Amino acid sequence: MVSPAIALAFVPFLVTLLIRYRHYLLLLYRAVLLRWLRQRLSGVPPEQRACQYVLAHAVPGDPRHVLRTFDRWCCRREHLSSVGPCKGRIVERLLRERAPRAVLELGTYCGYGSVLLAQGLPPGGRLYTVEMDPGHAAVAEKLIRLAGFDENTVELIVGPSEEVIPRLKEQHGLLKAEFVFMDHWKRCYLRDLRLLEAHDLLAEGATVLADNVIFPGAPRFLQYAKTCGKYRCKVHRASLECFRAIPDGVAELTYAGPR
Ligand code: MG
Repeated sequence: MVSPAIALAFVPFLVTLLIRYRHYLLLLYRAVLLRWLRQRLSGVPPEQRACQYVLAHAVPGDPRHVLRTFDRWCCRREHLSSVGPCKGRIVERLLRERAPRAVLELGTYCGYGSVLLAQGLPPGGRLYTVEMDPGHAAVAEKLIRLAGFDENTVELIVGPSEEVIPRLKEQHGLLKAEFVFMDHWKRCYLRDLRLLEAHDLLAEGATVLADNVIFPGAPRFLQYAKTCGKYRCKVHRASLECFRAIPDGVAELTYAGPR
């Protein structure tokens, strides 16, 4: 039995922890508890709730308005993992600088990243986006088409990335990606980067961006990118979408070719 005096001695320690990690606790509350509770009450998955809101409030054919509407839902109503406006500006700037004609996105989720990438494509550019969850893909399809992008600009491929990547050349006609955006499971970043290399899908000089390399983080991926000798690696520091106090970042890899 712990004496009251000892238990009391821990109070300042607990209060310090609560203050220090209050933003992470708020994220846990909004991204997990609140979502779970609303799903129990409404029976509608969080991605579909976000989709219904965007379909009802965004201007069709206006990608920026679609993104802003999605941000509004995520920041004011219910947290969903998306790139968000802060990291979105980094992605958009790099995309416009590179002006790639063939872009690959791993992890479509609700289609936020796809709309962000598609609106920055040069004329004739094409985005291939891969999503393993059919329910998320159905939501993404609606938002991508709402933003005004047809199948010629954005091709949505449903399946696990480790199965889709080896088929990209033969089944989807993607010979080399000049720009890759990774925003799926963080533990899959390294595996899928190596799959892209193994299937010769990265153009020399290609840019590979990886979201969330600081939070929740992808240490093995970063370690490989920095030490394998095939990439120049830089991390753009920013904050987690809708949580300015939680540091996050986007890794930018420049492929130098096989070594
Ligand atoms: Mg992300």
